[in-house]
Amino acid sequence: APEFYLPLRNLGTHYHGRMEAIAAAERLVGVFETELPSRAEPATGFAPDGAMRVRFEGVHFSYESGRPALDGASFVIEPGQRIALVGPSGAGKSTVANLLLGFIEPEKGRLTVDGQDLAAFDIEDWRRQLAWLPQQPRLFQGTIADNIRLGLPDATDEAVQRAARRAHAAEFIEQLPRAYDAPVGERGVGLSGGQIQRIALARAFLRDARLVILDEATASLDPASEALVQKALDELARDRSMLVIAHRLSTVRDADRILVIEQGRIIESGTHEVLVQQGGHYQRMVKLLEPAAS
Ligand code: ADP
Ligand code: MG
Repeated sequence: APEFYLPLRNLGTHYHGRMEAIAAAERLVGVFETELPSRAEPATGFAPDGAMRVRFEGVHFSYESGRPALDGASFVIEPGQRIALVGPSGAGKSTVANLLLGFIEPEKGRLTVDGQDLAAFDIEDWRRQLAWLPQQPRLFQGTIADNIRLGLPDATDEAVQRAARRAHAAEFIEQLPRAYDAPVGERGVGLSGGQIQRIALARAFLRDARLVILDEATASLDPASEALVQKALDELARDRSMLVIAHRLSTVRDADRILVIEQGRIIESGTHEVLVQQGGHYQRMVKLLEPAAS
C-alpha cells in the first residue's frame, strides 16, 4: 500500500510540529509501530512483565500558549483496571490519550510507567504495549487480513482469524465474497462503521496490547453494532488495563474508577455509585443524560 505509507515517509524530513504528527497518526490508526518520529535518545526497553501502573503526575499541556488543554492532571491507571474519562467536549480527554500515545509530551509534570518516566522508555517499545481505538478508525488499501495484520505484521493466517473471531468480526468477514482476502479501500468501502470498528478491534486482539485506549470508540455506531463492539470490548478488557473516553454513561458505569474532567482538570473521581451519591458534576450528568435511570 505505497500511497498509504507516503505521509509517514515524509514525516522525518517534513516534520514541522507535533500537531502534524498527531494528524498523521490519526490518519494512520494502529500504525505507530516504527513510523512516527522517535524521541532523540531512547533509553530502556519496556519490561515485558512489568505491572504497568500508569501514572499522570500534575501533567500540564497546551496546544497554544496560554490555553492549557490539560492543567495539572493527576491520576493512576492500576494494572488491569478500567478507568473512564468523562466530560464535555474540549475538556481535554483526547489530550490524555495523545499523551499516553506519546504524540505529545507533558510541559509540566510527568507520566510514569511502573514509577519510571515515560520519557525514559523507547517510545516504539511503549507503543507496542498499547491498542488505540479512536472514534473513526481508518482502514488502508489492502485486504481485510492485511488490515488486521497491522496489529502484528508477522501473524499467521490462523492468528488473524482467531483475532477476528474474538473481535466478533469473523461472522461478517466470512460472508464477504473473498472473506479475509476481500479488498478494502481506505474508507473501508462497503463496510459499516461497526464493521470497521471490529476490524480495528481485531488488530488490538492480535497485538495483545496491555493497555487499551478507547476514545469515544462506540460513539458513532448504531445500537446493534454497538452491542457487538461492546461485547468484544468487554472481552478485550479482561486481563488488560483500559482507559475509556466516553460520552455515553452506559460505557462508564462499570469502570473501576470514573474521572470527571473539565477545562483540563480532573474535578471528580470515584465509582459510579460513589459519584452519584456525592451529588456533584457526575450526578448532574447522569440526571441530564438518563433522567429515568436515577
Ligand atoms: P476532548 O477530547 O475532551 O473533547 P481535547 O483534548 O481534544 O478535548 O481538547 C482540549 C482542548 O485543546 C480544547 O480546547 C481543544 O480545542 C484544544 N485542542 C485540541 N487539539 C488541538 C490541536 N491540535 N490544536 C490546538 N488546540 C487543540
Ligand atoms: Mg476528544
